[in-house]
Amino acid sequence: MTTSTPLQASADLQQNPLISFGRGICDYSQVKSSDIKPAIDFLLAQAEKAVAQAVDPKTPASWNELVEPLEDATESLSRSWGVISHLNSVADTPELRAAYGEMIPKVTAFFSSLGQNLALYQRFKELSQSSSYANLSTSQKKVIENSLRDFRLGGAELSDGDKPRFSQIQDEQALLGKAFSDHVLDATDSFVHLVTDKSELAGLPEDAIAAAADTAQQKGLQGWAFTLHFPSYYPVMQYSENRSLRRLMYEAYVTRASELAPQYSKGKLDWDNTANMLEQLKLRDEEARMLGFENYAALSLAPKMASSVSEVDGFLTTFAQKAKPFALKDWQELSNFAKAELNIGDGLEPWDIAFASERLKQERYSFSENELKQYFPLPKVLDGLFQVIQTLFGVKIESANLPTWHGDVQSFSVKNAEDRVVAYFYLDPYARPGKRGGAWMDDARGRRELPNGEIQVPVAYLVCNFAPPVKVDGVLRQPTITHDDVITLFHESGHGLHHLLTQVSALGVSGINGVEWDAVELPSQFMENFCWEWEVLEKMTSHAETEKPLPRELYEKILAAKNFQNGYMTLRQVVMSLTDWRLHANFDAVNAKGQAVLELSKSIADEFNVIPQPAISRWINTFSHIFAGGYAAGYYSYKWAEVLSADVYSAFEEAAKLTGSVLDEKTGARYRQEILEVGGSRPAAESFKAFRGREPSIDALLRHGGLVTQ
Ligand SMILES: [Zn+2]
Repeated sequence: MTTSTPLQASADLQQNPLISFGRGICDYSQVKSSDIKPAIDFLLAQAEKAVAQAVDPKTPASWNELVEPLEDATESLSRSWGVISHLNSVADTPELRAAYGEMIPKVTAFFSSLGQNLALYQRFKELSQSSSYANLSTSQKKVIENSLRDFRLGGAELSDGDKPRFSQIQDEQALLGKAFSDHVLDATDSFVHLVTDKSELAGLPEDAIAAAADTAQQKGLQGWAFTLHFPSYYPVMQYSENRSLRRLMYEAYVTRASELAPQYSKGKLDWDNTANMLEQLKLRDEEARMLGFENYAALSLAPKMASSVSEVDGFLTTFAQKAKPFALKDWQELSNFAKAELNIGDGLEPWDIAFASERLKQERYSFSENELKQYFPLPKVLDGLFQVIQTLFGVKIESANLPTWHGDVQSFSVKNAEDRVVAYFYLDPYARPGKRGGAWMDDARGRRELPNGEIQVPVAYLVCNFAPPVKVDGVLRQPTITHDDVITLFHESGHGLHHLLTQVSALGVSGINGVEWDAVELPSQFMENFCWEWEVLEKMTSHAETEKPLPRELYEKILAAKNFQNGYMTLRQVVMSLTDWRLHANFDAVNAKGQAVLELSKSIADEFNVIPQPAISRWINTFSHIFAGGYAAGYYSYKWAEVLSADVYSAFEEAAKLTGSVLDEKTGARYRQEILEVGGSRPAAESFKAFRGREPSIDALLRHGGLVTQ
């Protein structure tokens, strides 16, 4: 046991709700913004002390004496900090925001210093080379391996001569990434197109016209103003019958942050990202070489599931070739339709695509979203979701009485077959003021074996932003959600299950911790599949008034609309992924000049896309995912995870051929065991293979997306 004694919390601090819950569950309703600073200062000091103890040569380099006390202290800090950032996301107040903002720099600095702590790196290395290492569990070894890898990727093995340059590269990259997104934002903000004659707005929906009038008014203009922000721009592309308006907006949009901007979008030359992209690619290349990798793509794969640069390139190329015939078919269908119905006989231009597609969709695949929504009352949907989970994974979900942060929030326990609680989760379903938009799953507590041998069970937050129930004639109506909302709920619950059903005891790799990030969307996208199954929908739907289940006819319609233009859209995503990949793998960044980035993107589009990249398009200059968003050499992972999840799901479809139901318990139990329970404790590629009995195949995704010849 360690000789260090934890810092003693004063009586005041012991009452602090951010500390008093210890390893238990926080009482969110008791947290005041004035609790934040004292709690975090104390927990930070405690964590610093644990770090000092860990790097002390007198501390034996063993799991129990080195890793565990450090984990104890950093987990306490992370958990309290997690409560605060959660509250900041779901129950924001000006006081809370201020107190949170004040502490962000300190907490961020602590965690980044941990990653840069070379003395700590040495201690972890000692542990990995010690005789006791062999006795550690697979999960514990994985935690150590991951830490050593992250230290190395952070430059820990570089010579003292190289270290200053390495950190300079990091700083320069951060600045360039920031400048890139600033340029995109400034270019987007700077453009306004004013329409003064209402007849030019033909085809636009009322709400888009009202929004344009509002924008004009805010800018002190008369008429209707359109901007390049998506909610203003896209309705024009989708609905405007005015072809020259569409063209004007399109040209402004695709030339943002480029050398053509002054000509088309009134942007400034200073916002041209051409040189910025080259500069970033050069720095990434240099960083990769310093760390001993051939290129940045290879470096990016170190913590990912995909195993080699050529594997990813091959995956994307095959995908593109498979999708291309279907993209061509979609293109043909759209062109014929435009010619016959829209009088666009001289060939579809890029600014006609969204418009013609919307018309075609209306004509062939329309159904009323509002009518569909009536079939999905939230309680019925939740019941359906829980049925799916309980049947597949042999657990029971029951209402729990955990303290929450708002009256709308529900809490649940998950019990195993022996009626023992294995996890808890919260569901916060509705949008409200002070709550951030979107939907997410977050970890409130991870599964871990505590020093006293007890198991700490995991806890998750599932947060959505569904429309809250409304009162009609003074009576609260049943809340109904859209089919998209249902998919979102299943998606987030898939992440939740990954976190909650883990059986791993080492915190660093339990649940979603330590899962390679190109595999992290597998369990979430997997769950989405059930939202399209008739046997699930039939039981999960009940009309808000008539209580009848979803009619089969309406089901057939949503199914047909699901894959509308999927060939075209898939190919587009794959081409973007391939562009990202080859810029980081097959690009001579050191000698590249001028428009080399654009030229590479054009050559890939020309090779794979069904229509050539328009000459003026500078879309790459606004590709923020890879130049400002952490997806560099990672954009492929969207498709990668889709392939994995579809392939996993196809095992359930195969089972259904024998048993008549996709809710097959045996397959569910195997999935739980091989994918969900092991979390990050073994490589995702091995988990996949253990479940499927073979390497991943793209066939199931192609079939689900209608990209196979019948
Ligand atoms: Zn997700």
